[in-house]
Amino acid sequence: MKKPNIVLLGAGYGGMITAARLSKKVGHDANITLVNKHDYHYQTTWLHEPAAGTLSADRTRMPIDSVLDLNKINFVKDEVVEIKREEKKVVLKQGELEYDYLVVGLGSEAETFGVPGVHEYAYCKWTVNGVREVKEHIEYQFAKYNNLSETKDELLTFIVAGAGFTGIEFIGELSERVPELCKTYDIPQEKVKMYVIEAAPTALPGFDPELVEYAMNLLESRGVEFKINCPIKEVTESGVILASGDEIKAETVVWATGVRGSSIIEKSGFEAMRGRIKVEPDLRAPGHEDVFVIGDCALIINEEINRPYPPTAQIAMQMAETCANNIKALMDGGSLQSFTPEIKGTVASLGGKEAIGVVGSKKLFGSTANFMKKMIDNRYLFLLGGPGLVLKRGKNPM
Ligand code: FAD
Ligand code: NAD
Repeated sequence: MKKPNIVLLGAGYGGMITAARLSKKVGHDANITLVNKHDYHYQTTWLHEPAAGTLSADRTRMPIDSVLDLNKINFVKDEVVEIKREEKKVVLKQGELEYDYLVVGLGSEAETFGVPGVHEYAYCKWTVNGVREVKEHIEYQFAKYNNLSETKDELLTFIVAGAGFTGIEFIGELSERVPELCKTYDIPQEKVKMYVIEAAPTALPGFDPELVEYAMNLLESRGVEFKINCPIKEVTESGVILASGDEIKAETVVWATGVRGSSIIEKSGFEAMRGRIKVEPDLRAPGHEDVFVIGDCALIINEEINRPYPPTAQIAMQMAETCANNIKALMDGGSLQSFTPEIKGTVASLGGKEAIGVVGSKKLFGSTANFMKKMIDNRYLFLLGGPGLVLKRGKNPM
């Protein structure tokens, strides 16, 4: 009997865990192919650190062949261009793949909400290559400062658009690093301006107010200025224009106002909301018995509040387990599981040894939260590659 072709798109949190589980469950009974742009997997959840330069970008990535068993998985380094649903084919930049079962785990892209100038003038790519550019740019701004004949405040003005978790984690790292950069480049610290600009009436909307206050106080003590209730309406070559019409001049704008699903979803004709497919309870795309969608490309509703669950690695990993089980069930003629996320909590780092979080019903601050954050990072490595991967690639929680 012909073995079915299982094609997995994207080697992120969702794709990697699905691949690892499928290789164990059906590795001998199916042709499993994993497609990814790069021959490495990166942990998106660590990227605020290399973006600010507090961690090397290489620490956030690992060669795919060092984690997955490529005797059981055919890895294709290529870029997905389109999914031809009727023909059950995936078009790649350099070829095509036919599938019996498809798993879409292509992650997300920056959401601009139609604000002009974001792609042209802001840093908005939360990828290894994207954050390398941010880090180099920041260092260059410091290196240039003392070589200018006249003072230009915008050179050392850093704007973070959006006080969601990405914006807060990034400014946490940057504000920790600024004193070191000032020392290295002989610049008085008061010359550096850091703004976090948020459209909603609070930073981290929806998060525990006491923890939000803790985070804001801490970041303000490091020189960060918050502009709350203050939507950005345009990014220009010289900075940002606020809804009020005021301009803040800055040569660095880091965009973190949320994400939408991969553009491949809409390009391939799937019905989507902000690039995310509202999946069936078994994680298949509506009307497609052979297409599973996981991670940031999938939309699921939290019935308690009648709003989508936020796109997180936590949910992507859980979806991957259900997806692998359901593909095995389809192959065996068994019944499919419904996916229910189990939200264990949220912990956000604030740079240095600081973090905030809620785990279960417990609020965590400071070094306890920081310890927990590193344990969460290490837990993912454990789920992907067992204790060996934690020892090789994990973070020291202390
Ligand atoms: P990703 O992990 O983004 O992986 C997508 C993969 O697809 C990538 O390897 C990419 O290269 C590949 N790809 C994309 N397009 C193509 C293409 N056309 N062809 C081939 N390959 C392609 N979530 C949490 O739960 N906890 C956190 O602490 C947390 N921290 C975060 C910190 C930051 C700075 C950011 C930006 C996000 C954070 N998130 C966190 C959110 C989390 O990172 C995402 O929800 C998660 O990465 C989604 O997993 P995924 O598998 O859907 O996609
Ligand atoms: P987000 O949607 O959580 O936050 C974006 C913020 O930008 C919002 O507060 C929004 O009000 C604001 N905003 C939108 N438009 C704006 C504008 N024009 N001007 C100013 N502010 C504007 O998005 P994110 O922070 O990019 O996070 C993406 C996903 O990744 C989320 O699901 C988040 O939970 C997850 N994440 C989790 C962690 C963690 O758990 N530690 C860390 C980072 C990201």
